[in-house]
Amino acid sequence: MMTLRDEPTLPFQNLELVHGWGLSTDAVGYVFRPSTVEGIREVFELAQRTGRTIAFRGAGRSYGDAALNAENVVLDLTRFCRILEWDPHTGVIKMESGVTIRQLWEYALPDGWWPPIVPGTMFPTLGGCASMNIHGKNNFAVGPIGDHILEFELLLPTGQHLTCSRQENRDLFYAAIGGFGMLGCFTSITLKLKNVYSGYLNVKAINVPNLDAMIRELEQRMDAADYLVGWIDGLAGGKGIGRGVIHEANYLKPGQDPNPAQTLRIENQQLPDTIFGLLPKSTLWRFMRPFVNNVGVRFINMAKFYASRLLDRGKIFQQSHAAFAFLLDYVPNWKRSYGRGGLIQYQSFIPEATAAEAFKAQLRLAQKAGYPPYLAVFKRHRRDNFLMTHSVDGYSLALDFKITKRNRAAIWKLASQLDEVVLKAGGRFYFAKDSTLHAASAEQYLGREAVEQFMALKRRCDPNGLLETNLYRRLFPESEATAKPEAQTQAGTAQP
Ligand SMILES: Cc1cc2nc3c(=O)[nH]c(=O)nc-3n(C[C@H](O)[C@H](O)[C@H](O)COP(=O)(O)OP(=O)(O)OC[C@H]3O[C@@H](n4cnc5c(N)ncnc54)[C@H](O)[C@@H]3O)c2cc1C
Repeated sequence: MMTLRDEPTLPFQNLELVHGWGLSTDAVGYVFRPSTVEGIREVFELAQRTGRTIAFRGAGRSYGDAALNAENVVLDLTRFCRILEWDPHTGVIKMESGVTIRQLWEYALPDGWWPPIVPGTMFPTLGGCASMNIHGKNNFAVGPIGDHILEFELLLPTGQHLTCSRQENRDLFYAAIGGFGMLGCFTSITLKLKNVYSGYLNVKAINVPNLDAMIRELEQRMDAADYLVGWIDGLAGGKGIGRGVIHEANYLKPGQDPNPAQTLRIENQQLPDTIFGLLPKSTLWRFMRPFVNNVGVRFINMAKFYASRLLDRGKIFQQSHAAFAFLLDYVPNWKRSYGRGGLIQYQSFIPEATAAEAFKAQLRLAQKAGYPPYLAVFKRHRRDNFLMTHSVDGYSLALDFKITKRNRAAIWKLASQLDEVVLKAGGRFYFAKDSTLHAASAEQYLGREAVEQFMALKRRCDPNGLLETNLYRRLFPESEATAKPEAQTQAGTAQP
């Protein structure tokens, strides 16, 4: 039987159309799905031999082009998904990098452990999360996922397989986490989980009339709260700009849940399959589609805001971890309600001192252009020590924009205007969400020194420039690491 090692060219059977999660960008690539380290090595060798570059891909939950690689190899890690070691006494778990957040919490929760950081959806892989150094609704309190990773193994394109931690290969530890898959492949990740004493959280909703009030509330609550997240009505203007609802959630203390063994069971966490016990949620996006426009969203946002004002009595209610954390998973395929052009998310991070004015300016710019964001999420963050970090001691605002053939150029122009606001305010961006950033802006917020340090590591780990993605080529076009050796360039021109 022929193996990848004998393949003279890339097999055309592996050609697939691969999408960014937001469906607004895609690329055809040669997709391979190895399930072992040996299989990953074989794909490395095949790509080297045929002069192609490799992009790693987890669950493809990055909104833009971070896990795309046009006409080159896409190394999909979703079948590389075994739990390797688990200690229910310490909460330390070692996993292959294709394990998903969902697999992880479903595995550990019955023993009383929850992932310390989760994104707004449970489907990403741990490799993808480490690679982007994801943040949760608790970033202000406990930092990004990298702060909870004890150790990882990284397979470099040179063939070296390194263990990295805060003690061993320290520079790589702080650069590969958040290194958007450009230094090597995470093969295993060892993570310390968070001990929980109930399957429930105590949750409170707080209605706020504008952005200044939202920031005031978040500042007051952040010392005591475990999770804080703000929803903003992106269509409200004038004095109500930035109005919305904050959700605060707190862990239950030992003894507060009379029946933890029961509430920690997986079946008590599952999101329901139907809405109101009737309508299957799998079809809901079709009903949402007619409302995903300026008029429909204005109406829905007003209803949501005023309903929360009526109901806001400071009452605490209980919600399962999964229900609170993965609100966006309630409606499967909700992104399809945005129509064929999909959506982009524009998330920027701005220091506390300049955040209020800069985010108000962003909302005004979007509204004035006629493209208000249909979903806007506000979070409190803190700094971390990772080389390519997106975080600041301040706030982030994530804005979802619907993309159509007709508005695409205008939205990209709007994004450039928003970029200027961010850069002027000393802010940062996030590759997991990015679709529109320019190379010069990326270098400006990261700083020349950090970029040079990262590129030096890239040359060390990946001397032949094997690892690339569409995002990397877009944002780092001039980097020396993209230069291919002669032989590879020639082979790369061959058609399948
Ligand atoms: C609905 C929704 C909500 C979200 N909410 C949040 C949020 O609250 N906070 C947040 O921070 N993010 C959030 N995200 C973004 C998401 O968490 C990140 O994009 C995450 O990286 C996705 O993981 P993935 O497995 O899908 O990786 P992919 O998107 O497939 O890949 C992401 C990057 O990781 C690299 N990569 C993947 N696997 C490996 C590996 N084994 N080794 C090396 N590199 C690898 C890829 O090359 C790519 O650069 C959200 C996304 C969605 C769709």
